[in-house]
Amino acid sequence: MGATLFADVRVIDGTGARPFAADVLVEGNRIARVARHKKRLDRRIATVIDGGGRTLMPGLTDAHAHLSFLNAPTLEALTAMTVERQVLETAKNARLLLDHGFTSMFSGASVRPRIDVAIRDAINAGDIPGPRLLACTKQMTVTGGFGDLGQGEREIGEHGYAIVLNGPGEFRLACRKAARDGVDTFKIVPSAFAMGSRALVAEDTVMSDAEVAAVCEVARQRNRHVAAHARSADAVKICVRNGVDVIYHATLADEEAKDLLEAEKDRVFVAPAMGLQYARLHEAEKYGVRFEGIARRRVEAELEIVSAVMRDLHRRGVRVLPGGDYGFQVTPHGRNALDLQFFVELYGFTPLEAIRAATQHGGELMSHAGELGVVREGALADLLLVDGDPSKDIRILQDRNRFDAIMKDGVFHKAPPVAASLRVAAE
Ligand SMILES: [Zn+2]
Repeated sequence: MGATLFADVRVIDGTGARPFAADVLVEGNRIARVARHKKRLDRRIATVIDGGGRTLMPGLTDAHAHLSFLNAPTLEALTAMTVERQVLETAKNARLLLDHGFTSMFSGASVRPRIDVAIRDAINAGDIPGPRLLACTKQMTVTGGFGDLGQGEREIGEHGYAIVLNGPGEFRLACRKAARDGVDTFKIVPSAFAMGSRALVAEDTVMSDAEVAAVCEVARQRNRHVAAHARSADAVKICVRNGVDVIYHATLADEEAKDLLEAEKDRVFVAPAMGLQYARLHEAEKYGVRFEGIARRRVEAELEIVSAVMRDLHRRGVRVLPGGDYGFQVTPHGRNALDLQFFVELYGFTPLEAIRAATQHGGELMSHAGELGVVREGALADLLLVDGDPSKDIRILQDRNRFDAIMKDGVFHKAPPVAASLRVAAE
């Protein structure tokens, strides 16, 4: 593989550091050199991309992805299509996300047991374009928990988008089967849905400590991740104490829960995953959806609570990552970078901190700490050449047309015009 030189770029390196002017050389699938200006690299050794002062930054990570959710209006509609069609549509989404600058996706549930696995393997084999993907199970819930679409005598069993399990034995068996199938992440739902019938935000914790412990035990044995939909304070505590490594929502985290998260901040990740809620308030009309009355007030209340919690966790140094249920009608795939905007608007992140969350911290989430999501010598070459400066306007990252180049693992998914092709033949 030849070398590529991004010449004269403004580097946002993903660590939160201020942008700096540099030349960046990629050799194979790694960043070989980062030469700050005044030390320009030899133009003759590589294919030269004239950066012209544009921004070079790491590819983005979504921490709560659902590639197999096909922009459905409801949870029931998630499984409305045949498996065969769903696999093909998921492959299209994988490409779409890469088109939008997302070079890594941490899945927060697959709609059927092995779709994520098949898509991940096809991407890794080079059969289809797509981001690096960590494959997830279906959402694992309990009877009456969030995702159990059964009612009365009618049990949904394994036929909904979630799988309904009860007791540590059933969870352990499901996790062992999922590990056999090759998933990277077990997704559990220890707390109830966002909107409870008794309160603005549901406080119920529906999985037992023993059930969460069983999932974490299999994860440790098989070296897998555990991600949990944990809105209640108790759910957050049960998860952190048992070793869950990715906490979604954390909506009602109290002081004790936040202390636990802070104490485990080098191990644990939090993703508030409020993309769907934010979109319901601010984007729904665009998709012809009305969102009013009590439902709207509940979401407004939840966003207010979550914002306060995330500001506090961010201040405490807990890694809070973007990514939030893109794949529904009002959050169609490709809109994922909207999350970075409200990290700035609602959670008090600077644009550079929001970018760090989506890049350096994303690389850590993807189990490539220090070598993914950063522009530094030796790191994997997942890079975006951006027309503009997202450290000044974070919304730029929502516009795929602003990505003049998208590189994953040293290979262009979207190649820029080459200013000067000065390849020197190998000896
Ligand atoms: Zn989700």
